Amino acid sequence: MMPVVALVGRPNVGKSTLFNRLTRTRDALVADFPGLTRDRKYGQSKLGEHEFIVVDTGGIDGTEEGIETKMAEQSLAAIDEADVVLFLVDARAGLTAADQAIAQHLRSQQKDVFLVANKTDGIDADSAVGEFYALGLGEIYQIAAAQNRGISQLINLALEPFVEQFVGDEDRADDEHDEFADVEETFTEEDAEAQAKRLQDQPIKLAIVGRPNVGKSTLTNRILGEERVVVYDMPGTTRDSVFIPMERDGRDYVLIDTAGVRRRGKVHETVEKFSVIKTLKAIEEANVVLLTIDAREGISDQDLSLLGFTLNAGRALVLAVNKWDGLSNDVREEIKRELDRRLGFIDFSRVHFISALHGTGVGHLFESVQEAYAGATQRHSTSVLTKIMKMAVDDHQPPMSHGRRIKLKYAHAGGYNPPIVVVHGNQVKDLPDSYKRYLMNYYRKSLKIMGSPIRIQFQEGA
Ligand code: GDP
Ligand code: GDP
Repeated sequence: MMPVVALVGRPNVGKSTLFNRLTRTRDALVADFPGLTRDRKYGQSKLGEHEFIVVDTGGIDGTEEGIETKMAEQSLAAIDEADVVLFLVDARAGLTAADQAIAQHLRSQQKDVFLVANKTDGIDADSAVGEFYALGLGEIYQIAAAQNRGISQLINLALEPFVEQFVGDEDRADDEHDEFADVEETFTEEDAEAQAKRLQDQPIKLAIVGRPNVGKSTLTNRILGEERVVVYDMPGTTRDSVFIPMERDGRDYVLIDTAGVRRRGKVHETVEKFSVIKTLKAIEEANVVLLTIDAREGISDQDLSLLGFTLNAGRALVLAVNKWDGLSNDVREEIKRELDRRLGFIDFSRVHFISALHGTGVGHLFESVQEAYAGATQRHSTSVLTKIMKMAVDDHQPPMSHGRRIKLKYAHAGGYNPPIVVVHGNQVKDLPDSYKRYLMNYYRKSLKIMGSPIRIQFQEGA
């Protein structure tokens, strides 16, 4: 399971700076879900062999009264859901009362806490951090987030227990300077082939995600109710999804239930069902994400955040617009226009209008799920990918760089779910983003992949 790293600390210690360093994209998912804490940020991170979810818990202002209450409101849930807590302090500012209040709280938790002194650049760090030993949290890890220093060592240490056993030590990212240069792994053709074989033999992991109240539980029950499924009674916790094996049309699936259907009608019904971390983990775990949207609420920023997270994670995607029952034709037309306006950019994903309550349209979802999985895992030979590359180049030459035309030589598959195309050539580093996008769209159109984002990577030489 994907570990969760929470960044905790008073304002201005550098949490956002570290967060931005760690996350793949600048546009983090800012949680603003009804009933949940507002100013938490969530992001995906990949550093060396470590893949994890980062949560910036927001600043805790120690000068306010009732730090405990504030902690409880702001970060308690995030700390609770985290596997590892990075507690940031400011090496330049020195120890403050707020640091002490936070430390006191953290000591009472059964969590792995790493005390991290930030902003150690340009000062005599060893003597500056000495006073933080008074916090009683043991060793102090020195970093300079703004300079990208000490981060990979810290993450390697903090996430050591989560490394899967078969992963060797060889490709650990020790080089401070290019640790973020290439966040995506590059698979060889052989790796990609092996991965494709694995994906073909596995059940399709399907995560049903969406905001609170969009109808996830209703939909999950509807899907399960229609099937003769063996549902194992697996205890669901607030932070983990329940995995439900099922079969449909002769295909094996594992439903990743973020809504906690299994707890329905039980004592825990009142326990908050929705958790952002649970949702993000489910997306990371899934092969295909079924993003459920509430027709009656329109498309919200949270829907777009979940969508963004799904695409960043490279997952295949099917959209379900739920609660389609009992709406007038005018309203339906209006909703469709809004979808076009706000989601027009993901033209590769199927949209279904369904009623989980009445079951309308639910059966057809699986056709698109199968299609999306097929699109995400379908094999592409080197000859086909190279041919497409050549056609793209014939239609539109790459630009010149340093007086020479950038040359693309051949392309092969680098991975699946999402499909990765690796393009080899000369001076590919100088390819402008506009040309990379052009190639990506060319591949998308030529390969006719429905339901999955694709990725493209460039490699210098043969
Ligand atoms: P947050 O409130 O904890 O999220 O803190 P920010 O990330 O917004 O950082 C607060 C200030 O500290 C900003 O002006 C950053 O540029 C600065 N800062 C962050 N990391 C470092 C660092 O490693 N060295 C120095 N010198 N400044 C830093
Ligand atoms: P979750 O929080 O996403 O799991 O949402 P629930 O499945 O608990 O549904 C929230 C509310 O929406 C409940 O009152 C459901 O009865 C209602 N609901 C779910 N699906 C539909 C639907 O297709 N049509 C209508 N009209 N109501 C629905």
